[in-house]
Amino acid sequence: MSERQGNQGGRPVGAPNVARGFSYDEPLIFEHSRPGRVGFSLADCDVPEVDPAEVLGAAAVREDALTLPEVSEVEVMRHFTRLSTWNAAVDFGLYPLGSCTMKYNPRVNERVAALPGFAQAHPLQPPALSQGFLELAWRLERGLAEVSGMDAVSLQPAAGAQGELVGMMMIRAYFADRGEVRTKVLVPDSAHGTNPASAALNAYEVVTVLTGDDGLLHPDEVEKAMAPDVAGLMLTNPNTLGLFETRIAEIADVVHRQGGLIYGDGANLNAILGVARPGDLGIDVMHFNLHKTFSTPHGGGGPGAGPVGVKALLEPYLPRPVITRNGDDAGADADEIGGLDFERPKSIGRVHGNFGNVGMFVRAWAYLRALGPEGLRRCAEMAVLNANYLLARLGDTFFVPYPGRVMHECILSDRHLADTGVTTLDVAKRLIDHGYHPPTIYFPLVVEGAIMIEPTESEPKEGLDRFIEALLAIEREAHADPETVKTAPHTTRHNRLDETRAARKPVLRWEPPEGE
Ligand SMILES: *Cc1c(COP(=O)(O)O)cnc(C)c1O
Repeated sequence: MSERQGNQGGRPVGAPNVARGFSYDEPLIFEHSRPGRVGFSLADCDVPEVDPAEVLGAAAVREDALTLPEVSEVEVMRHFTRLSTWNAAVDFGLYPLGSCTMKYNPRVNERVAALPGFAQAHPLQPPALSQGFLELAWRLERGLAEVSGMDAVSLQPAAGAQGELVGMMMIRAYFADRGEVRTKVLVPDSAHGTNPASAALNAYEVVTVLTGDDGLLHPDEVEKAMAPDVAGLMLTNPNTLGLFETRIAEIADVVHRQGGLIYGDGANLNAILGVARPGDLGIDVMHFNLHKTFSTPHGGGGPGAGPVGVKALLEPYLPRPVITRNGDDAGADADEIGGLDFERPKSIGRVHGNFGNVGMFVRAWAYLRALGPEGLRRCAEMAVLNANYLLARLGDTFFVPYPGRVMHECILSDRHLADTGVTTLDVAKRLIDHGYHPPTIYFPLVVEGAIMIEPTESEPKEGLDRFIEALLAIEREAHADPETVKTAPHTTRHNRLDETRAARKPVLRWEPPEGE
């Protein structure tokens, strides 16, 4: 463990490890519980007390008191604050997950999203009382359309996966409207699992197209699979190998020539922001992951947002209602500059109970406005530069399945470690001892033992260097002392969890120990 870096820049590079004594063990909140202890004070009841069984019916009233923990306010505060320090977080240091992206969450965006006019607006508030929000949403739609080269955008889908589902529903509606029977959708073998799932949920048969040895999709492979019964192709660009699909325009031609449409998975849009627009490359419909490209914090399962953008030919099928703008000439005394159009006979319908996850729209709009066109472009350039720097420094040590330049993320594998018995999983676990959340591993599936690293634009060179040094140290250790790597992590409260059992047989109920 001599080469541990630790603490991600909490100390100068090369300095000895500093204090680790402020990391608390923490029991369950139920173990803090003492009978009768309270953390709140409620006012006396000022309405007549009734027997709940009489009002609600006996069946609705529980027989035993609910076993809730009885703890004081300060205990609750400390319990959850301590637990929060157990999490890896972008606020602690570099977070190398790939195919994931958003690692910079400007506080000012959190601030504006929390403004009461946005955060406390009721979703059913009539348009006349929601003009500010409607204007923001309308402008965000226009902004996303501009960045992507699309003609119209719906903000409703709550995640990228739902955006895909909605995009494929619109493709299906488009062909149904034209009386064309198309039953298949082409999906490259490097695609994210949500792509074939979205096609299958729309009752399409998924046809896998193989990527070439260079990791790219080739027009002749698409040509071979393309037929009049194929509704289209789902494509990610840059793809999940971190490579730009250089032949996308020819591929789009192949599909369009036979009447098919191109679905663009926009999860990696941050790599080309301000440089290339999916709409200009032949994509007809795409989703944006606001939590991957436009500042919404990513992770922890919190809400995201997956707006969809379409070319004009799919506009009639957009989810309804569509946000409309009446034009500035509506006049200052007009009630409604913006409104909601429900009269959309070809719409696939509503896909969200209300407008979508509104807080994400405010963050995304603040982000777009703060960066502007130059700033967005700079994000893409820095993200690509950082990933190539990582690859250049690690590429001699780790196996690189697709050598050459990458876009915003790079893929290594454990092939160089084959004779040590150390695998990608071991490397990922050992990184934890160096103070890093592991990168994405074993994805994409087309690369055996993949280690996928996405540094993003916001990581300084010193941060990248520390991370690189950690990986190089692990590689040296894998040869010198493979057992230590294979049994990592060594500095966590728990070592290797049985992840399968944790998912399949979670223990969700706490039982007090016998005799208490
Ligand atoms: C993340 C991701 C998705 C799914 O997006 P969610 O917002 O997580 O639902 C789809 N495709 C790719 C390539 C992704 O990285």
